[in-house]
Amino acid sequence: MAADGAQAPEADGTKPAYEWDLVVIGGGSGGLACAKEAAKLGKKVCLLDYVVPSPQGTTWGLGGTCVNVGCIPKKLFHQAGLLGEGFSDARGYGWKLPEGVEVDWEALVTGVQGHIGSLNWGYRVALREASVKYMNAKGSFVDAHTVEAVERNGKKHTLTAERIVVAVGGRPKYLGVPGDRELCVTSDDIFSRTTKPGKTLVVGASYIALECAGFLHALGFPVAVMARSIFLRGFDQEIAELIGADMERRGVRMIRPAVPVSFEKDGEQIKCTFKNLDFGLEMSESFDTVLLAVGRDAVTSNLGLDRAGVVVDPRSGKIPVVAEQTNVPWIYAIGDVLENRQELTPVAIKAGVRLARRLYAGATQQMDYDTVPTTVFTPLEYGCVGYSEEAAAEKYGADNIEVYVSYLKPLEWTMNHEEHNGTAVRPDNAVFCKLITDKTDDERVVGVHYLGPNAGEITQGMAVALKAGATKAHFDDCIGIHPTIAEEFTILDVTKRSGKSALKKGC
Ligand code: FAD
Ligand code: NDP
Repeated sequence: MAADGAQAPEADGTKPAYEWDLVVIGGGSGGLACAKEAAKLGKKVCLLDYVVPSPQGTTWGLGGTCVNVGCIPKKLFHQAGLLGEGFSDARGYGWKLPEGVEVDWEALVTGVQGHIGSLNWGYRVALREASVKYMNAKGSFVDAHTVEAVERNGKKHTLTAERIVVAVGGRPKYLGVPGDRELCVTSDDIFSRTTKPGKTLVVGASYIALECAGFLHALGFPVAVMARSIFLRGFDQEIAELIGADMERRGVRMIRPAVPVSFEKDGEQIKCTFKNLDFGLEMSESFDTVLLAVGRDAVTSNLGLDRAGVVVDPRSGKIPVVAEQTNVPWIYAIGDVLENRQELTPVAIKAGVRLARRLYAGATQQMDYDTVPTTVFTPLEYGCVGYSEEAAAEKYGADNIEVYVSYLKPLEWTMNHEEHNGTAVRPDNAVFCKLITDKTDDERVVGVHYLGPNAGEITQGMAVALKAGATKAHFDDCIGIHPTIAEEFTILDVTKRSGKSALKKGC
């Protein structure tokens, strides 16, 4: 019998005859990776994926959140915004570009959706090539070894499985105020809507809100962000505030601290009545589009987990696990549905692959949820790995950490002398580097934060260094690549404690 009891023998000593070695519920980043790896290891695998339409009626194909309504369209829209900003740089480099260039929103949406369509198709082919049976059906537990799969046309299938992996991910939350479901859109809708967003209100202040506000503004739409408290909860707050200030400088309006009270139709627009949380005053303003980005709910409520005996956190709806194993030993969970884990695509994928290898190839390597790098794709991107300054001070003690900082202007920006709203389009010292070390451990680097262009690319390399246990001396000993921004991390010498200016001058 396997350690997880999956092959519990029947009373007569025979192995129970399950139809499948593994059923995976959810065909997103985590589920696809786990299913393909298990099949590669010789197992008979069935994967179910089903998209419940958003309240606005948006639906999509195989691949889950990342591919259809998350990372992929978001990065493409962000890139469209960056290209638009690049016109202003290009003029400084001598390009004769016409004024008043504008984006064709419908063409952008069509192009992005075309790419997504090709990815959806690619996933289907990959499953077939890996010999994973794919069913476009909604799964729910009948008991701890049985899943019912219901196709869109109502046709039902009963699947029995030795092991089951839950990888159902999450969906956007709504506020629960009048008019929100009827009138507002979420990240599930915005990337495929062919109508121009126009004047847009984005509600929320974390990853999704700031990223969407950033690209919509960069694409030329008037954008306001309604935040009830801090920006980017859980991130280094010095940098979160710098991001907010940078977006404001570009022209994004911040309504803060405030929460929506109701939404109603106002002709072709949506009237948002909101409450200022400092003064308790209620005000209203109308927008063409309201995008809610106020967090995500795990999709566990109609999954029948109670029938399988799987424990779910009643508050969050998320599944607590130890090494991806639920309280029912042969039922596992991966990805966004997990309690207290990062909601990121590479996290879901690696957890899925490692789980399959432990289950079917005798591997022992666990998923490591520590030192996970991430990047927020705001107009000025923010990449980080390790502790924020606040978290490092709390963990190691404020006196035991050293914080190295530098503000600089990328060489590439120096040719742009254009102004917008009275300030430089490419201001001096807008890019920020922060490196945090543990003084009690040979100045081991415990946090790297970077605000500036290409943050994802830079931070990925930093993450390898932190995983390898790099100290400040390793960073100092590393030769920079000139002229880049990343080289700044090899020459950081101003600490916050020193009180010296961290503003960079010259090359
Ligand atoms: P999902 O990808 O959500 O897949 C779950 C699948 O299961 C879905 O297809 C769902 O429809 C299906 N399903 C649900 N219930 C059932 C059921 N009962 N039966 C059958 N199928 C079911 N992460 C990054 O790393 N980088 C980014 O830049 C990034 N940007 C993002 C931007 C946005 C706007 C959003 C919303 C997310 C972003 N993320 C990003 C997060 C990333 O998309 C998720 O962490 C990742 O998709 C989680 O994968 P998953 O497999 O857990 O779930
Ligand atoms: P988060 O849970 O990170 O943030 C939710 C935001 O909504 C917070 O600003 C919160 O404010 C606000 N909020 C919550 N409830 C209300 C309310 N009732 N009224 C007003 N505001 C409210 O969710 P996101 O949707 O931004 O992102 C979900 C996850 O998706 C992220 O954690 C991330 O892992 C992943 N993601 C990753 C990206 C990337 O890698 N680049 C990009 C986008 C998403 P408060 O702080 O006050 O609670």
